[in-house]
Amino acid sequence: MQALVWEGPRQMNMREVEQPKPAADEVLIQVAYSGICGSELGGYLGHNSLRKPPLIMGHEFSGEIVDMGDQAAAIKPALALGARVTVNPLIHDPWSRAALQGRQQLNRTRKIIGIHRPGSYAHYVTAPAVNTYPLPDRLSLEHAALTEPLACAVRAAKLSGAGATSSALITGLGPIGLLTLQVLKQSGVRLIIATDTDPDRRAIGEHFGVTVLDPLVTNVVDAVRERTNGEGVDAAVDAVGVGVTRRDCVQAVTWGGTVVMVGLHEEESTLQANYMIRSEVTVRGSFAYSTLDFEDALTWLADGRLEIDPWLVHAPLAEGGANFERLLGKPGPVAKILLHS
Ligand SMILES: [Zn+2]
Repeated sequence: MQALVWEGPRQMNMREVEQPKPAADEVLIQVAYSGICGSELGGYLGHNSLRKPPLIMGHEFSGEIVDMGDQAAAIKPALALGARVTVNPLIHDPWSRAALQGRQQLNRTRKIIGIHRPGSYAHYVTAPAVNTYPLPDRLSLEHAALTEPLACAVRAAKLSGAGATSSALITGLGPIGLLTLQVLKQSGVRLIIATDTDPDRRAIGEHFGVTVLDPLVTNVVDAVRERTNGEGVDAAVDAVGVGVTRRDCVQAVTWGGTVVMVGLHEEESTLQANYMIRSEVTVRGSFAYSTLDFEDALTWLADGRLEIDPWLVHAPLAEGGANFERLLGKPGPVAKILLHS
């Protein structure tokens, strides 16, 4: 089969590789759509220690089951040949302490499709039956490929604790920031302020009726306090992950507020520790999603609660490398690029 293979920093090429065969507890999926994730941009540049070349990336995908291992149907009776599906790419040990606590993504032996095993930037991909979800009829294959990034946003929004009486800041309107914005907005969050340095992304945020600041011209902390009677917001979600956005979030929340860090751009950052102590700010990480978050995201999508079509871009898999480059430059009004065979 043909696959898009990452072979080293900024090198991604179509290659003929052997078509994978499903193990007894797996299914073989003919890939329909496969999204490009921000974490893969870092991987593509060679900045991500988890990803080692040569690698077929791709973990946000949808497709059709074309082959099944002997036990797959017994593991999940809803699966059948021809079924349209999406996959939770996070493979975990269901009997690990983390999984038993409902935090499957914190299982130390976790394996992610597209990182630890071949992913969906190919015509075919295998996945454990237990991780594979049939799609409700009303959900398109195109939207189903957004389940994984939406699940990340659902988790970040849940951990922020923001609800109908809250105010929130989101730094960064890349795919995760934009999806988090929609989850918070639909959760009834009273006041949302977002930031992005890119004018096209700010315009997408403004479409949702929220204030979007350009951090290059506006002091984010001052602007947030101004709009909240000097208090700061109840919660902040950092969907960038550099020192300045992490520090802005810490200072933009009210005393006793919560900062959720999702963006992984910079390995280490300096934070205002004494300020965090004196103001009792909670800073917490949010990584991927639990099994429940993934299922919640799928339900959310099937219910048609996400508005993303105007900023969804399709591109052929064979032009994957060029589209990685596009996202690293000035991509324009793009919320997500979906690769298709
Ligand atoms: Zn992702």
